[in-house]
Amino acid sequence: MSGPSIGKTPLHIQIFIAMIIGALIGAGLRFGLTDTARDSTAVVWLAAILTGMGKLFISLLKMVIVPLVGSSIVVGVASIGDSKNLGRLGIKTLGFYTLTSLLAITIGLATSNIIAPGNGVEIALEGAKAVDPSKLSTPGSPFEIILRMVPTNPVAALADMDMLGIIFFSLIFGVTLTTMPDEHRDRLLNFINSLFETMMKMTGAIIALAPFGVVGLVFRAIYEIEDPSFFSALGAYFMTILIGVSLHLFVVLPIVLYLFTRKNPLVHFAHMRNALLTAFSTSSSSATLPVTMECVEEQAGVNNKISSFVLPLGATVNMDGTALYECAGVLFIAQVMGADLSFTQQMLVVVTALLASIGAAGIPSAGLVMIFIVLDAVGLKGEQVGIIVGSMLAIDRPLDMLRTATNVFSDSVGAVIIAHSEGEVEPKT
Ligand code: ASP
Repeated sequence: MSGPSIGKTPLHIQIFIAMIIGALIGAGLRFGLTDTARDSTAVVWLAAILTGMGKLFISLLKMVIVPLVGSSIVVGVASIGDSKNLGRLGIKTLGFYTLTSLLAITIGLATSNIIAPGNGVEIALEGAKAVDPSKLSTPGSPFEIILRMVPTNPVAALADMDMLGIIFFSLIFGVTLTTMPDEHRDRLLNFINSLFETMMKMTGAIIALAPFGVVGLVFRAIYEIEDPSFFSALGAYFMTILIGVSLHLFVVLPIVLYLFTRKNPLVHFAHMRNALLTAFSTSSSSATLPVTMECVEEQAGVNNKISSFVLPLGATVNMDGTALYECAGVLFIAQVMGADLSFTQQMLVVVTALLASIGAAGIPSAGLVMIFIVLDAVGLKGEQVGIIVGSMLAIDRPLDMLRTATNVFSDSVGAVIIAHSEGEVEPKT
C-alpha cells in the first residue's frame, strides 16, 4: 500500500510534481510580474484560490485527528487482551516499546538542539498574526505535564481537541476494555475497530489530496515568505531528521539488540531485509506487518506465540522513527517561529511526541498529521504553522520512508528481545 492516490501515478511523485508547480507559480507571480500586474484582480484571485487550497488541506488533516487517534489507541491497546495470560508479556512489551521510543525522542531532542535547523529564520507573512512566544503553554513543572494529561471531562476533551486528555483517556479505556468479559469487550471493540478502519480509509483519502494542498502551501511559502533563508532552513531540517533517524536505526537499536540478546545486529538486519524494503517502499508499517511477521518468525526464529502478539501491537503503538520526528519537527517549527522553548516546554514536547507516536496510525504521512497534536500542546498555532507544516509535507516522503523502516525494525528488535527473554527463539539465530 503506497496510500491511495488519484490516478495511477504514485502519490509521492504527484506530491513532488505539485511542489514544483506550486514553486513555479509562486516564483512566477512574485518575481515575474510588475507591482501593478500583481495587484490585478486575476492575480489576486489566483493567489487567494491557491492559498485557500492549502488551508483547506490542513483543515481536512486536522478534521480526522480526534477520531483517528482515539480509535487507533483503543484498538492498539485492547489487542493486548486478545489472548489470555498476556499480563507479563504485555507489560514487558509496552515497557520495551516505551524505552526505545524515549531513546528515539532523546536523539531527536539532541540533534534539533545541536543543529538548530530553524534558528535565525523569519517568516513574516502578510496578514498572518505572529506568534507571541510568551503565550506558549508553559507547564510549571514536569508533574504539571502529567496533571494536564488527565481530562476532568473526557467529552469536553473531545470537543476541545485536547489531545493529551484524549490520548490519556483512550489509553486507560483500552486497558480497561481488555479486562472486561468477552461479551462487553467484543461488542465495544468491534465497534471501535470499525471506526478505526473507517478513519484510516478517510485519512488515506485526504492524504491522496495532498498534491492539491501542496501546490497551495508551497505556492504561498514561495510567494509570501520574505526571508529566503527559510528554504535553506528546510534543507537543514531534512538533514536533522535524516541524521537523527539514521542514528537510531543504525546505532541505537542495534546496540539495544546486542545488549539484551548478544545477537549480531548485522545478521538481524539481513533477516529483516524484506520487511525493511517493504516498509521503505510503502511508508506504511501496517501494510508491512505481514512481511514483518514472516521475517521475524521464519528468518529470526521467533515463536509465533510471541510475534503474533508483539508485532501487531508494535505496528500500532511502537513508532520510534515517528516519535523522533514529532519531537524534532516541532522544535524546528518553534525555532522558525522564534519561540525559544524552555526546559519544561521541551519536556512537554517529549511527552506529547511519545503519545503522538503511540496514537499515529501505520499509514503514509500519519506522522505529519500527528504533529499538530504536539504543536497544540505547546500552544504553537496560527497560519505560519500551517505554512511551515505544508513545506515540511512537500519534502516528507523520503523521511517517511526512513521513519517507517525504523518503526518496523524497532518492532522486530522488540519481538526478538521479548522472545529471547521468554526462551522462545530458535537457536538457529
Ligand atoms: N508512515 C509511518 C508508518 O506507517 C508513520 C509516519 O508517518 O510516521 O509507520
